[in-house]
Amino acid sequence: SGEEGATLTTIESGKLIMSTNAQFPPYELVSDGEGYEGTGYEGIDVEIAYALAQKLGLELVIDDMDFDGALLAVQNGKSDMVMAGVTVNEERLVNMDFTDSYANGVQVVIVPEDSDIQTIEDLEGKKIGTQRGTTGYLYCSDTVENGGFGEENVVAYDDAIAATQALNNGQVDCVVIDSAPAQEYVKANPGLKILDTEFANEDYAIGVAKGNTALQDALNTALAELQADGTIQSIIDKYIPAE
Ligand code: GLN
Repeated sequence: SGEEGATLTTIESGKLIMSTNAQFPPYELVSDGEGYEGTGYEGIDVEIAYALAQKLGLELVIDDMDFDGALLAVQNGKSDMVMAGVTVNEERLVNMDFTDSYANGVQVVIVPEDSDIQTIEDLEGKKIGTQRGTTGYLYCSDTVENGGFGEENVVAYDDAIAATQALNNGQVDCVVIDSAPAQEYVKANPGLKILDTEFANEDYAIGVAKGNTALQDALNTALAELQADGTIQSIIDKYIPAE
């Protein structure tokens, strides 16, 4: 409709700046070509963000950085929203606000095909690779009493590519990461597999600055419209075909 955009204040007038980490297929990845609608990027978040920006009458600008930086950007007024397969959790809700959820995520464990790790319990005493600032890191680095494996056993990499490379090189015994990118990385790296047991179920949502209810409300209204007319499901189905 574009009507919301008329009253919506963003960091740069007329623009909707999205911080993200474009190493997280199929949610966001750098395109080989022009990308979706000439953005240079592709993925579920990219296409949903583009549709949201259109509804708000704003131009989508994508700012690619490390995942923890993408969360900070929205808190420091450098981006209007963070869309990066971001899981809603209590810690993050202290420093930022979230829209309604638009997708689900599951934390899984990637191991070499010949690994002796068969269940989550087997992670005890192993070197666990994660991405810095993610829920995978938070769960695994927690104390054993809290269901984690201890900070000393967890290595935080810049992104999923670096974590997967470390696993390939034998620097870690496994990688804990969201299911959809895990499947893409296992497809691209022969010799790796995903454990059947799931680590955690999560909701993805869009993060905005704490107290930015104008943007939060506008995004929620636009998201509800995109849910109702089937746009969101068709974007998800395009990147994650049903089995
Ligand atoms: N869903 C995870 C989180 O929010 C990982 C997101 C990501 O790495 N892009 O921490």
